[in-house]
Formats: sequence, C-alpha cells, structure tokens
Amino acid sequence: MATPATATPVLSIVAPCYNEEESLPEFYRRTTKTCVALNLPYEIVLVNDGSRDRTWELMQALARLDPCLVCVNLSRNHGHQLALSAGLSVCRGERILVIDADLQDPPELLPEMLRVMDDGIDVVYGQRRRRAGESLFKRASAALFYRVLGQLTSVPIPADTGDFRLMSRRVLDILLNMPERHRFIRGMVSWIGFRQEPLHYDRDPRYAGETKYPLRKMWNLGVDAVTAFSVKPLQAAGVLGLLSILGGVGLLLATLITWVAGGEGALWLGLFAFLAVLGGVQLLGLGIVGEYLGRLHENSRQRPLFLIESIRRFVPSASEHVGIDASPASVGEPINNDPIAA
Ligand code: UDP
Ligand code: MG
Repeated sequence: MATPATATPVLSIVAPCYNEEESLPEFYRRTTKTCVALNLPYEIVLVNDGSRDRTWELMQALARLDPCLVCVNLSRNHGHQLALSAGLSVCRGERILVIDADLQDPPELLPEMLRVMDDGIDVVYGQRRRRAGESLFKRASAALFYRVLGQLTSVPIPADTGDFRLMSRRVLDILLNMPERHRFIRGMVSWIGFRQEPLHYDRDPRYAGETKYPLRKMWNLGVDAVTAFSVKPLQAAGVLGLLSILGGVGLLLATLITWVAGGEGALWLGLFAFLAVLGGVQLLGLGIVGEYLGRLHENSRQRPLFLIESIRRFVPSASEHVGIDASPASVGEPINNDPIAA
C-alpha cells in the first residue's frame, strides 16, 4: 500500500516565498508536523519567487530529503499573486491550502479547516480577528481598502482576509481556468462562489524578516482588485456629468428669474449655467465611453458566464415502474454534481 509520502497527495499546501530564508526552515517544520499528524498523503509546494537570498538553495536542500516537498523556481520575481498562481498550477491535491511562508497564518489551523470542509464547504477562508505585529498604517489601510472595495463591487469579497484559505479541487480548477492577467486571487475565489465559510483566527506577527509588501506593491494589489471587480470608477464620470448638467439647468432657471425680475448679475449667472452644462456634457460623454470600455474590459477577462453547482432532475425510481407511488424523498435524485462552466 502506498505510504502518505509516495501516494498521490490528497492535500496540497502551497506557499509563495520571496526572500524567506529566515522563515522557511521553521515554516517547513511546523507545516510538515501538522500534515504528518493528519496521516493523509500530502505535498508541500514551495514557490521561489525570484528571491535574492538563499531561499532557493534551502528549498533544494530540503527537497533532496523529503519526497513530500515540491519546489518551484520562477525565472524572476513575478509578485505574490503570480507566484501563488504558479504553485496552484502544479499542485495535485484534492484539497488545497494557500498559506504565506512567514508563519503569520498558523499552519496548525489546517485540521480545523478540513473539518469545516467535511460539511460540504468548498472554501474555508481565514478571517483575521486580530493582526499582531503589524503597523497601525497597515491595519488602517487594509481596513479602509476592504470597505471601499465592498462599496465598489457587487461580488461579496469578505473583509479582513488574505489568501490564507483551504479550497476544494473543483474551485481550484475553475480558478486556474480564469485567464485574466491581473489576478486578485482572494476576489476571484469569492467570485467563483459555492459554499464558502470563514474561520476566525488571530494573525501572528511575522516569524522573521520584513514584509515583502511595501506600499507600492500594496497599492498595485489594490488597483488590481478594484479594476478586476468593478467598473464603477469608469462610470463615475457619467454620474458627475449628469449632476453638473442638473446644476447648470438650475442655474439657468435662476438666471431667467433674475433677468425677468430685472436684478443684477443675470449675465454672470448665465455664464456659470453655460459652463456647468458644457462641463456636464463633456463628463457625460466620458461616462458613455466608460460604459463601453467597461464592457470591453469585462469581456477581455473571459470569465465563465456562470457556474452551475449541481443539477437535479426527476428520475423515475424503480418503484414507479412496478406501479408503486414514489415517496417525495425519492424523486428528483441528483444526476450530476459536476460544476459546468459555460
Ligand atoms: N511574496 C512573494 N513575492 C513577492 C512578495 C511576497 O512570493 O513579491 C510572498 C512572501 O514571501 C510571503 C507572502 O508572499 O510568503 C506574503 O508576503 P508578506 O508576508 O511579505 O506580506 P504581508 O503579510 O506583510 O502583507
Ligand atoms: Mg506576511
């Protein structure tokens, strides 16, 4: 019989690593300990995202000794979301845990996540209750970001989450078939749907080293998130244009009243009214261009139009063929539980 180390993995742990030489040995130790205790065939997929320190050397040394380790070396630094996508594309498990290599998200939560998944849940995402060891700026900007994103998008992307999550193979396969280039993975997983449940936890400080997410990268991730999940910024000009036109029409009425009443300043008011209407028409034009651009943008992402979770159809049961009434519980058996991407 295949041992957990040699069998096809049931469980994959995927961790992107950028300059993580200090955290990697401890991450490997704690993750391996958790996986071994589960007694399931597993693999740990480590992705070296163009590190400039000894991360790749360390990975190779570990992989020489451990058949459960898969190490992927990217050609250069591609960034967290693409490094993660690369790891997800090579993992083979039926259940896949995405986790950072800096131990901010404890691998020891995996057994609990698996238990939640046993109840038919497709995605168990870690939701942070508390974030220890992170600057006030980072916490405040993250909190603001998730609230703004929540207002802009129609896809419910849970607040205070990272990419730390356990997902089923069917969710991962759909994710891998979404070809968009700017990947905000936690949003894409939310978009996929099915049953997703949070697991609340306290986020630890980094085990070692510094954040690999400076302000510039955080900003880029935020822009990717907003542009991948909302066309509202493109529509904003149109709304402003309409408001400006309405304001201009109001001013025009005020001009007329002032003129008829023989008051002073009708000329100035008229000029303002004209400028407001003119500016509004231009903004409205931009908004109309934005509507077309938004649709083009949505088409270019080539996401599936919809995803079917399962189909139930009436299937005559054996009892009906012999003339016995089928009980309500026996009608409409599931005939297909595979997700179908249109
Ligand atoms: N990371 C990566 N490529 C990058 C930046 C980060 O693979 O360009 C990895 C990093 O090694 C870590 C994870 O992505 O495992 C999250 O990064 P980090 O912990 O620095 O982000 P933070 O938790 O501070 O937001
Ligand atoms: Mg971190």
